[in-house]
Amino acid sequence: MDWLHLRADFPILDQEVHGQPLVYFDNAASSQKPRQVIDALVRYYQEDNANVHRGLHELSMRATDAFEGTRKKVARFIGAGREEEIIYTRGTTEGINLVAQVWAAQFLKPGDVILLTGMEHHSNLVPWQMAAKRSGAELKHIPVLEDGTLDLETAETLLNEHVKVFACVHISNSLGTLNPVVELCAKARALGAMTLVDGAQAVGHIPVNVQAIGCDFYAFSGHKMCAPTGIGALYGRYELLEKMDPWHGGGEMITTVTLETSAYKAPPAKFEAGTPNIADVIGLGAAIDYLETIGLENIQAHGAELTAYAYERMSTLPGIRILGPQQPRASLIAFALACAHPHDLVEYANTYGLALRGGHHCTQPLMKRFKLPGTSRASFYFYNTRAEVDRMMDILHQAVKFFS
Ligand code: PLP
Repeated sequence: MDWLHLRADFPILDQEVHGQPLVYFDNAASSQKPRQVIDALVRYYQEDNANVHRGLHELSMRATDAFEGTRKKVARFIGAGREEEIIYTRGTTEGINLVAQVWAAQFLKPGDVILLTGMEHHSNLVPWQMAAKRSGAELKHIPVLEDGTLDLETAETLLNEHVKVFACVHISNSLGTLNPVVELCAKARALGAMTLVDGAQAVGHIPVNVQAIGCDFYAFSGHKMCAPTGIGALYGRYELLEKMDPWHGGGEMITTVTLETSAYKAPPAKFEAGTPNIADVIGLGAAIDYLETIGLENIQAHGAELTAYAYERMSTLPGIRILGPQQPRASLIAFALACAHPHDLVEYANTYGLALRGGHHCTQPLMKRFKLPGTSRASFYFYNTRAEVDRMMDILHQAVKFFS
């Protein structure tokens, strides 16, 4: 695989920031977009722009074909059984909220347990806190061990017949931990619980197959995998989607409407009221095409190699504390330096053109667990290089001297 050649597909990377070549290590927050995706957006607006589904004219039919064609691609990309199991959303957050509002309102009752983990992103915590408040269900969390993995022994006792929802992050955005979602979802489902996986950091980074995972719902965002912002998808097992009430009401999700009442379409239309984000769906399709030409196994292997190299080099920095397990680890390293607050370090790095992220990474309970105000985080994607890791190391060594 010619990774440097692929890098040339990302025009944004070829620039200087504060007089230094940009090193973009904030991919866990949002990835960059290749020319192929940008071109697909421009082509859609220049050649095919029209509303979908409703039109019998040429442009509307072209837009509809591209829009629905992407649904097939997403289904194949994440191993869904059928395209009707894919609901377009604005991203992971919206997908989880859909389930935590609609499914929870119908099926949760007082005394039920919503089981989460201590390493969830706020987007897989807050919607369930709201659902618990509305339904009278109780929240419980699988603790996180010192090494950044889940306490699976405690999980055994927490996973009991009271659990009605089990929702868990696939890859932690703050630790890099890959969670054993197959085993956990199997146990939860055997107890009759509904299972949801937050795949924000996984899709586009490792091969994902929702049927192999065996979850009921799986949510992800396009913008972390080369697609535009404002688009993502929620996978839902069809039998569950069929039983669920709609979420938003409006055009496109109905078969008939009278002044008093309405009949709803089958999934996924039932959950997609109003004019959708057509252009960005097409951008998502282009991103999937692009990633598939590289191959998810290759992307995962490249990420693992680069991260192992960065981990080895970073662990020699004086006063560093790296969060999460060394192996296996996703393509990100969150760390704290004894000499500097993460915000100061990230600002310092920025003056040298290095984009890191500092803060709680939307995982405040996890930061509390590790008794840290926040961390700095370097997160990689396939267009990053060893030379960039070396550049980061020069800047971090300089920073240690500056702040000590
Ligand atoms: N879950 C995880 C693990 C994340 O890393 C993120 C984003 O950083 C989200 C959920 C939320 O994604 P979005 O803001 O795209 O909805």
